[in-house]
Amino acid sequence: MPCGGATDEDPGMAFKERVFSGVQPTGNLHLGNYLGALVKFVALQDKYDCIYCVVDLHAITVWQDPAELPKATREVTAAFLACGIDPKKHIVFNQSQVAEHAELAWVFNCIARLGWLNRMTQFKEKAGKDRENASIGLYSYPTLMAADILVYRATHVPVGEDQKQHLELSRDIAQKFNNDFAKSIQAHGYGDAFFPQPEPLIQGPATRVMSLRDGSKKMSKSDASDQSRINLTDDADAIAHKIRRAKTDPEALPSEEKGLDPRPEADNLVGIYAALAETSKADVLREFGGAQFSTFKAALVDLAVTRLGPINAEMKRLVADPVYIDSVLADGAARAQVIAAETMKAVKDIVGFVRR
Ligand code: ATP
Ligand code: MG
Repeated sequence: MPCGGATDEDPGMAFKERVFSGVQPTGNLHLGNYLGALVKFVALQDKYDCIYCVVDLHAITVWQDPAELPKATREVTAAFLACGIDPKKHIVFNQSQVAEHAELAWVFNCIARLGWLNRMTQFKEKAGKDRENASIGLYSYPTLMAADILVYRATHVPVGEDQKQHLELSRDIAQKFNNDFAKSIQAHGYGDAFFPQPEPLIQGPATRVMSLRDGSKKMSKSDASDQSRINLTDDADAIAHKIRRAKTDPEALPSEEKGLDPRPEADNLVGIYAALAETSKADVLREFGGAQFSTFKAALVDLAVTRLGPINAEMKRLVADPVYIDSVLADGAARAQVIAAETMKAVKDIVGFVRR
């Protein structure tokens, strides 16, 4: 029995709801990853079947030291678990253990158009001025991301704002595959559409956490300045030091959100506070409107240390046990591969590859 695509009779119910998302093992996880992604990953576990992936194939689109990559992979895994992801109820694994991601990405490289990829802003930012010298992998990063999601025919993808454009591309790829192969999809019994249109889940006050040193740049693992970000591995002193030194302006905090518009650094810190306190920026300003930054930053330090301290401690405990981490990844990879292999069999039939 084919695993079922969208049909005329049952368009809404055809795809099983499933969450997929990934984080690259490219360095220290930071507050942006935590608020933009990990907090959402944890919350979605109650409602959906979730697959959370450490995307090491993505990481090597820029140079990674082979001595550091396994450590970074285990550290991201430890962060997933420390934040509260349950690897037994859900699936946690690293991408390179499931070869179907790369296999489907090749098919998608033949579906996506050069013109689509030429519009991707992440490539432009990461390649910088020396574009001729960027890897082809960095350029085709979004087709691999589409494969990550669609090899599980995932319907919901929690990501930060920076990944919105890539999600839109994933949707375009799914759509074009469904259109190009419509007859074959029908003929093989998958109805009108083989791939779902994955929905981005981007909500809340911290979907784009900005650098603490420059309110116009997003907080990133790959930023050269460690002062630009709060790492999940930072201790209380480091967190306090970085927040106290965070760039601000000399004005007091406004009492309403529109007062944050021309003040990116203030907006960022208020957004971080709101996300950590699980409230809105408006509520934070109701409390701190008129306050000086010294007062607000002291409160933010307390809140950040309270929220991140236990995660930091649990991550330390977990990374000290790489055998356990590797067993989580191996178990997750085996379970992920069952789903991915099923999709690839169908894709091969649909495309017309002769298979065993
Ligand atoms: P890199 O600089 O290597 O790209 P990164 O910090 O952007 O690292 P990723 O692994 O690319 O981290 O992204 C993991 C998840 O974290 C994605 O869902 C991404 O949208 C989200 N994310 C990354 N940076 C931020 C940020 N500053 N604010 C909110 N979400 C973010
Ligand atoms: Mg990134």
